[in-house]
Amino acid sequence: MSATSSTVRTSIKPRTICSSGVPRSSIECCVHCGSLSYKKIGRTSSGAQRFLCKDCHKSFTENYGLITHHTRLLEWQWKEAIRSTINVESITTLAKNMNVSTKTAWLCRMKIYQSIKNIYGYNDTFNSITEVDGKYERISFKGLKDKSYFLDRLNRMPRHHRSREDRIKYLGDDYNKLFCTKPGLLKHLIYDTSKRLNGKYAIDVSHQHVCILTAIDRSNNIFIAPSTAGVPKSKDVYDRLSNKISSDAVLVSDNHASYRYLVKRDNLEHIVIDTTLHTNSTFSLARVNSLHSSLVFNV
Ligand SMILES: [Zn+2]
Repeated sequence: MSATSSTVRTSIKPRTICSSGVPRSSIECCVHCGSLSYKKIGRTSSGAQRFLCKDCHKSFTENYGLITHHTRLLEWQWKEAIRSTINVESITTLAKNMNVSTKTAWLCRMKIYQSIKNIYGYNDTFNSITEVDGKYERISFKGLKDKSYFLDRLNRMPRHHRSREDRIKYLGDDYNKLFCTKPGLLKHLIYDTSKRLNGKYAIDVSHQHVCILTAIDRSNNIFIAPSTAGVPKSKDVYDRLSNKISSDAVLVSDNHASYRYLVKRDNLEHIVIDTTLHTNSTFSLARVNSLHSSLVFNV
């Protein structure tokens, strides 16, 4: 064996695509301990180069930390996933086009969302005229079976057609617990008959909607994040936006109490847009509204 085969590498020529078609990164040190002393130890089944650190003796692959880490998807499948995400296609369509299961397609899309979030981050500071608004999107609980999530967090049953007997059976041991600690909630869980919301856009007090808090300024800095289930409280809005809006900024929003709380505490200039008028002289919520309408959320 030649001496160079296990030579310590201080850098590896960056190549964008490896032989299997999987995008690769340029590994420059051990991803675990930062050591420059590591060697190649073959490839993974998907074709990515594996390395072994000579100091911490842990192994890692060349796509560590990249969106392609821990996947066997090929380049064309990733391209398809990105194309389909931009075109807002359904997970089912994406799965079919990628030739993978819906679960894989969903995971792939979540990775893309996460990467976008990592790239743009929430570090923007808003310095100019900043429009803020919340958009309500229905939350999908389809397939969610975690009982404590429904009972403790949402304070309701999953939306099944359950008889009272079924509901008591579903509660199981929690029945006695709730009987002692939250009898009001127990009564609501067993006797509540409302199954659906009134209308698609009604905001559900029992947390059927998530509020996606959005801010955009004239330089196109964007903050967008699911903030609360149901209507956000003043503190929710304050916690999310307080350190992002500079004292020079002008906040443009509707008259919701949560925005008034934010501007009062941070001493910001505030332009309130009457929701029936839509504009207030030169100010409006047009940018934030247009951002909302350009997005389709998969919450
Ligand atoms: Zn190491």
